[in-house]
Amino acid sequence: MNFRLAQVIVDVPSRETDRPFDYSIPKSMQGWIEVGSRVGVPFGHRTVQGFVVSLKKDSEMDSARIKPIAELLDLVPPLSPDLVELAEWMSRKYACSMISSLQAMIPAALKGKAERYISVAEQEKESYGDSADSLFVMQPLLTGEEEEIVTYVKASGSVTLDHLNTRFPGQAGIIKGLISQGVLSEVQLIKDKVRKKMVKTVAATVSGNEAEAALSSFTAQARRQKEVLQFLLEVGMPLSLQEVLSTLRVTAGTVKKLEEKGYAVIEEVEVFRDPYQNRRFKGTEPLQRTPEQDVVYSRISAALDDRTFGTFLLHGVTGSGKTEVYLQTIERCISSERQAIVLVPEISLTPQMVERFKGRFGSKVALLHSRLSHGERYDEWRKIREGKVQVAIGARSAIFAPFRNLGLIVMDEEHETSYKQEETPKYHARDVAVHRARQHGAVVILGSATPSLESYYAARSQVDDKFAPVLLEMKQRPSGSHLPAVHIVDMREELRDGNRSMFSRALHAGIASRLERGEQTVLFLNRRGYSTFVMCRTCGYVAGCPDCDISLTYHQKSNNLRCHYCGYATPAPSVCPECGSEHIRYFGTGTQRVEGELAKLFPGIRVVRMDVDTTSEKGAHEKLLKAFREKKGDVLLGTQMVAKGLDFPDVTLVGVIAADTALNLPDFRAAEKTFQLLTQVAGRAGRHQLPGEVFIQTYMPEHYSVVHASGHDYDSFVREELKYRKGLHYPPYSKLILVTLSHEKLPLLLRMAENFAGDIRLKAQRLGWYGNLDRFSSEALDIMGPVASPIPRIKNRYRFQCMVKYRGSMDVVGLVREIALTTHHNLRDSSLQISIDVDPQMLM
Ligand code: ADP
Ligand code: ZN
Ligand code: ZN
Repeated sequence: MNFRLAQVIVDVPSRETDRPFDYSIPKSMQGWIEVGSRVGVPFGHRTVQGFVVSLKKDSEMDSARIKPIAELLDLVPPLSPDLVELAEWMSRKYACSMISSLQAMIPAALKGKAERYISVAEQEKESYGDSADSLFVMQPLLTGEEEEIVTYVKASGSVTLDHLNTRFPGQAGIIKGLISQGVLSEVQLIKDKVRKKMVKTVAATVSGNEAEAALSSFTAQARRQKEVLQFLLEVGMPLSLQEVLSTLRVTAGTVKKLEEKGYAVIEEVEVFRDPYQNRRFKGTEPLQRTPEQDVVYSRISAALDDRTFGTFLLHGVTGSGKTEVYLQTIERCISSERQAIVLVPEISLTPQMVERFKGRFGSKVALLHSRLSHGERYDEWRKIREGKVQVAIGARSAIFAPFRNLGLIVMDEEHETSYKQEETPKYHARDVAVHRARQHGAVVILGSATPSLESYYAARSQVDDKFAPVLLEMKQRPSGSHLPAVHIVDMREELRDGNRSMFSRALHAGIASRLERGEQTVLFLNRRGYSTFVMCRTCGYVAGCPDCDISLTYHQKSNNLRCHYCGYATPAPSVCPECGSEHIRYFGTGTQRVEGELAKLFPGIRVVRMDVDTTSEKGAHEKLLKAFREKKGDVLLGTQMVAKGLDFPDVTLVGVIAADTALNLPDFRAAEKTFQLLTQVAGRAGRHQLPGEVFIQTYMPEHYSVVHASGHDYDSFVREELKYRKGLHYPPYSKLILVTLSHEKLPLLLRMAENFAGDIRLKAQRLGWYGNLDRFSSEALDIMGPVASPIPRIKNRYRFQCMVKYRGSMDVVGLVREIALTTHHNLRDSSLQISIDVDPQMLM
């Protein structure tokens, strides 16, 4: 195949450049350039990055004017043709540029400048248990030519591609093959990759009789040294020096003396960047399926064996064994040489979750989550691309894992809003998953105890032929444990009876009895609706951002006030800037306040607080959970983070401090989100032998989302919620597109926003789409606004929004995009920004 021309999407963020440009392929790159290659191309007066989206033999254009590609950026294309097609689909569906879709699919580490070398891939270091198959290493059979190249590279350490091409002319295909098989690897010298992390370890050098002798030789003064040696002998493997020092509370000098005596050795070793690489996971075997699990498993297996696209909505109560179903269906998928992606919300990518997958699949698993550094993420991503792993687990963006032969995509907690990306490209991982699965003839499992109304409605009514999942249900817990008893506590009554504390009498008594019995409590606070702001109690002044219409947030650590939208920061004032009063107060986060109150009511209580403040450092999240699991805390107090996926045997009480903080938010999903959270929280208690109890404190005890969550009654909740949605034509009975316009000049912005809405109306009328959604017709479109956005000003730019609401399968996204383009074109003022959010999740 001799492709002479490549069509390239360039990384230049402007509307005019959002289309492919033609470039010729220089001879030296022929055979290397593919659909999905990342290249450097001349554009204007500079060289920019771009992605090849198609190849042509020749162009109709005057070839003299076509410039050649300047540089090939990766030897193995970071994207495959199916991902390029997916990017095209995303751009149409979400009205975003091709380049933003393409960039979303590759790891951040690839975006920077990097030097590339070829070297022989390190043999797979097995990190999985002691199973026998870790003893032999797969060695691919090489041809003579391949062998020669590999030997050459091995001898040279690492070489550049140019060098290798010159040394082995005409063998580009073979070299490429070696790289994609993972025999040779492409090393990108990315900044955080070269900076190796080193750590000091210490290990005993004696054992057996020698150790006995050594132990008995210590004098009384050397008691601490003896302790260290004893400890090292017990553990029987090298430990980090830091860990030894902190565990035994000894000084480095003590360990040093032990080394001088020849009983221990201190070494400096490199730490692997994969945070789980050095951890051993206990291997687990598939569990005997319960009858419910078996039905579900059989249905999904049949679909997997068919190798045709299919979607399932797995509605299973918390603790019904959904994860076990995922594990077994994944097993089935990878045993047929196909790969699986598991999506979980970032927040539930807990060590427990990771352990369950690593325990079953060991080193076949790659992990992609945001707590990894760019370099770590890049390593994991490369394992996927090189076919070294068969399962990828991660948050939202793991949906782009570059597997070649996908068989299964699992989306756990499919109702979570974090699956929607709030920045461009504003995609929803659920829709992307469905599209990718369709490309590969793969199966999608959407799992949840509280499915989103969109998914549930689609499964129930089977209307939308593009996305109509088969509904599968699991109502029992394999453990036989019952869903906990849930009590609704009316806080208005507490107040009437003179209890002004944030704890009702019932919850107070509950905590007290858990403390007595040595059992644990989880306290949950809905973060939405609470914030840390500064207010003057004398005059009511609230510190706000000078550039955005929003109050500043107090950060305790740095003692300053910060704007969440633009990053503006200022020292926290000690007197009110308005009236000079000293009664200016920092209202801490909800969790800080609760912690203070707990300490007052229960002196000596041990509280593990988990919120954005306490978990911002790497690994903090895991540490806190570990402490609680080891019963170093009586109470786990936190926000959304404690509601997800945690499973502690000794938790018998769950308290929700204020259930309704989010119910009054101006968001049509407020009731749904509250119901989901409460159901999830309630599922935390009594998952094991000990029976559980849940108290939900609320000022709105009659609200249907509170009532049905307390009864674990998803169906009744959905019935009421759907009635309300239908009446107001909200999703799933309509589709929404939120358009936000922003500009520094308010009058101009208002005029443009009105023109915009008017143009949409006019065009829709002409197309015969415009009409009241109340009227019975399969197609209707309405546009609301413009109105000021919930945050009316950010970074000194005013913001107005319009909401397009429609029913039917018309190309409304295309229409909105077109009107946005003409609005821009007519105004000739590039500082007007129009942002389009298709299927918005955050309405405030
Ligand atoms: P979910 O993901 O639906 O919340 P899990 O998969 O976490 O539920 O399962 C809840 C508990 O039930 C876990 O402790 C799990 O080990 C156990 N479990 C799941 N399936 C089985 C089974 N077939 N037999 C016995 N225990 C099971
Ligand atoms: Zn004041
Ligand atoms: Zn600001």
